[in-house]
Amino acid sequence: MQTYAAPLRDMRFALTELHDVAALTALPAFSDLDADAIAPILEAAGKLATEVLLPLNAPGDAHGCTLENGVVRTPPGFRAAYAAFRAGGWNAVTGDPAYGGQGLPQTVGMLVSEMICAANLSFSLYPGLTAGATIAVGRFASDALRALYLPKLTQGIWAGTMCLTEAHCGTDLGLLRTRAVPAGDGSYRLTGSKIFVSAGEHDLTENIVHMVLARLPGAPPGIKGVSLFLVPKYLPGTDSGPDGGVGARNGVTCTALEHKMGIKGSATCQLSFDDAQGWLVGAPHKGMHGMFTMMNSERLGVGIQGLGLIEAAYQSAVRYARDRLQGRALPGPRRPDLPADPIIVHPDVRRMLMTMRVHAEGCRALGVWVANRLDAAEHAADARARRDAEDFVALMTPVVKAMFTDFAVESANLAMQVHGGHGYIRDHGIEQYARDARITQIYEGTNGIQALDLVGRKLPAHAGRSLRGLFHPIADFIENIRADPDMEKFAAGLERAFGTLQLATRHVATRGLADPEEAGAAAGDYLRLTGLVALAYLWARAAQIAIARHGAGGPDQTFYAAKRISAEFFFDRILPDATACYLKIRSGKASMMAMPETAF
Ligand SMILES: Cc1cc2nc3c(=O)[nH]c(=O)nc-3n(C[C@H](O)[C@H](O)[C@H](O)COP(=O)(O)OP(=O)(O)OC[C@H]3O[C@@H](n4cnc5c(N)ncnc54)[C@H](O)[C@@H]3O)c2cc1C
Repeated sequence: MQTYAAPLRDMRFALTELHDVAALTALPAFSDLDADAIAPILEAAGKLATEVLLPLNAPGDAHGCTLENGVVRTPPGFRAAYAAFRAGGWNAVTGDPAYGGQGLPQTVGMLVSEMICAANLSFSLYPGLTAGATIAVGRFASDALRALYLPKLTQGIWAGTMCLTEAHCGTDLGLLRTRAVPAGDGSYRLTGSKIFVSAGEHDLTENIVHMVLARLPGAPPGIKGVSLFLVPKYLPGTDSGPDGGVGARNGVTCTALEHKMGIKGSATCQLSFDDAQGWLVGAPHKGMHGMFTMMNSERLGVGIQGLGLIEAAYQSAVRYARDRLQGRALPGPRRPDLPADPIIVHPDVRRMLMTMRVHAEGCRALGVWVANRLDAAEHAADARARRDAEDFVALMTPVVKAMFTDFAVESANLAMQVHGGHGYIRDHGIEQYARDARITQIYEGTNGIQALDLVGRKLPAHAGRSLRGLFHPIADFIENIRADPDMEKFAAGLERAFGTLQLATRHVATRGLADPEEAGAAAGDYLRLTGLVALAYLWARAAQIAIARHGAGGPDQTFYAAKRISAEFFFDRILPDATACYLKIRSGKASMMAMPETAF
């Protein structure tokens, strides 16, 4: 059965013990906030996730969305849940207070998102896409557009979308064909077809604001000729009251819903733009600039979707492993009073549960680190501090997106394995996690493209400056723990893995410069290696805290003991993959590229 309770204790650990919550709340934008004020927000989000969104997850999957006469309906219950979501201010957690947002840190927003995604990934996409559209409008639209749209988007009164993909182009957006022509009144008319648009049409909000990539007349070919437009489903009305204030219907229609493997409660739409009125956002031909802003936020968001799914899969698997009786423990019966032992006694089941648990806690620790830096990038008083934080976020965004979602797919599969055949059939809702998780490796740029982004753009940017934000704290920490006998194992493991990452970085930089195919061949393994080293650093720090606080007594005693065991498992069973990544990187492109195309 799908089960989920917000992992609030581990969130508190990541937020306040592993990372510096005081530094976060010392940022001028958050001076009213402290850790005590954050806790009830997370508790309330956890309650919403468990009580409102989780019960709709499996039924939403079974029912899916429907399209009738151009009207898309979300699964039963989604409308009421969205109304509760919006009334609770959950759309507006990190939103700009000038437009009705709560102005809370991205770090808090990330943890809230984790819970929403864990409980109901399909539902999470509706506010998730809106948040991305809000950022693009906030950063790049004219004052008039911002005044008109930001209050509605920030508070979730209207929803947003991202319309990039067309039938013939997904990764290579330079090929897109949707056209925009000036209408002579400052607006534009858009014509073309988009596919795969998440939340492209639905019944949760009165209006939907599409952010659309299109080409202006005479635009340069390729990606340098793409512009970004805001195209509302309904043109704004003269009444700009709280319920929307919509006017005439614009020329945007949903022509079909995609039939897909998972996230069936999320309406993935084909949209037709027929002379639809839109407004330019940002400069002509600079659409990718605005779109990248939106995509970077969405990419981190997809990583957090992965984290949520890992936690949900883990919790469901633990529950089943405690209940399911099969076989006897290898050393002898653990529960002689029962006809068989629960499967949690078996080492292979433990391997699976520990892997999921360590993925969830590790990704949460890394997610909070990146979110903390995102807050610093946006709000630090000092320009240099903002720049350093921005560098770190840029470097780690593809890592978070790709590694977390790879772990999500692995964890959903492990949860299914723990359930045996009962995981493969529908009754327990576990196969839904496997189907839902799979898209996270594909959308917002496939994980292969994330790896190319890391190796081809983020690494060489500013002569490798971005790496400092990752490498320096790790090097300093290794120095600090080197002489600590309690930390011997963690120091040695971290130092070894960090050493391989440094060697791999040199290898990718030099070989990749001479031959870009070498960089492409190394990219996926380099991304994983970077992620594993970042996790190793965080697990070593978690172990240090757990060792120091062990003996605290009460429930914390159990928490810290478990944290230390999890850290040991990471170093014993997950981190060795770093060596394999390095060996694969070193092997170069030869055997990957040697096969003649005709031989495939
Ligand atoms: C359920 C769902 C929801 C979606 N939501 C949205 C949305 O809201 N808005 C939107 O605009 N789009 C959306 N998408 C589209 C999604 O972002 C694309 O499917 C994705 O970016 C990949 O594009 P593609 O499907 O055209 O694959 P392709 O670009 O055709 O890629 C196919 C394969 O080739 C690889 N590849 C392509 N180019 C390169 C290269 N240069 N180097 C190395 N490998 C390469 C890819 O990694 C992939 O493995 C959604 C898709 C789905 C299925």
